[in-house]
Amino acid sequence: MSRVYNFCSGPAALPEAVLEKAQSELLDWHGAGVSVMEMSHRSDEFVSILTSAKARLSRLLNIPDDYEILFAQGGASTLFAQIPANLTHGFDRACYLDTGAWSSKAIKEAKKYTDVILSGSSKEQNYTTVPDFDALTLDEKAAYLHVTPNETIGGLEFDALPDTELPIVADLSSTILSRQIDVSKYGLIYAGAQKNVGPAGVVINIIRKDLLARSNNAVLPTVWSFETLAKNDSMINTPPTFAIYLADLVFEWLEAQGGVAAMEKINIEKAELLYSAIDQSDFYSNPIDMQYRSRMNVPFVLADASLEATFLEESERAGLRTLAGHRSVGGMRASIYNAMPKSGVEALIEFMSSFEKRYG
Ligand code: PMP
Repeated sequence: MSRVYNFCSGPAALPEAVLEKAQSELLDWHGAGVSVMEMSHRSDEFVSILTSAKARLSRLLNIPDDYEILFAQGGASTLFAQIPANLTHGFDRACYLDTGAWSSKAIKEAKKYTDVILSGSSKEQNYTTVPDFDALTLDEKAAYLHVTPNETIGGLEFDALPDTELPIVADLSSTILSRQIDVSKYGLIYAGAQKNVGPAGVVINIIRKDLLARSNNAVLPTVWSFETLAKNDSMINTPPTFAIYLADLVFEWLEAQGGVAAMEKINIEKAELLYSAIDQSDFYSNPIDMQYRSRMNVPFVLADASLEATFLEESERAGLRTLAGHRSVGGMRASIYNAMPKSGVEALIEFMSSFEKRYG
């Protein structure tokens, strides 16, 4: 067996210890005589896995009692539609902050359901920064304010939230569990699992319970209704059982690492190492406003773009996998989520330095 350092933005690397545990339980989960993939979602065994996943996530993020955790299918992209479909009932508009490719997609989808008020945009700055929060257009009659505090493609991340009474809806797909957050500041947090949580196939929603009343079940597809999902403990129909089980194992691993605070500390170290290697060289560069550089997704380009293909070929051969940037932007991108050890970032930096010596 030879595992490599995997810098894929998602589906991303999972902790090896989690994969080994899943492997050891694959044929016979806890004496059930079957794998998790083969058991009824209504069985006591699976219900215990779901309950454990919710309890661990609650502990890891200090989720207050007035929030509900929902595990849904369809990925974060489905939520781009599901959110306005649920939360704009009784409203005729919603506010959106535009900070990159993923918020733009969320906006495009929301427009099919409601009027979108563009609260602010950094499009003119090529999404290298975040709009000034003091100059946002916030309509207090809107259903909510949607933000994307982690633009996975652009490599931009922000922590502070605009000052508003509106419920804040946040796509935290690539940062969830990578840094501490105050859940009580949000109306709804959602995140596709395949970066920091587990395999693709499950999307996590953490929703303030009062917002559940907005779901208009007369017109919503049943499986889309946040209220019905909550009432049925995420099991209106068959949930993605194996993905939820893997997420529970990742949560268990995170608790053993010391929780989110401990992960955040390591993530800061990893990001600082990589950005300082980029900044110290004229050969590599990253365009994002320093204060908004993502700790999870680090895009960079070579001064000589004609060397990109060689960089990718050689890095792959050196055991550094999937360093190509998103197909829409090109260049390089290293995704360094929780499961990427510091040694992986050090190996990348060493490779970058040797590549520069050879071609710079
Ligand atoms: N939002 C963000 C911030 C993302 O990074 C991604 C996936 N890269 C998505 C949404 C879409 O996720 P999915 O593929 O699960 O629909």
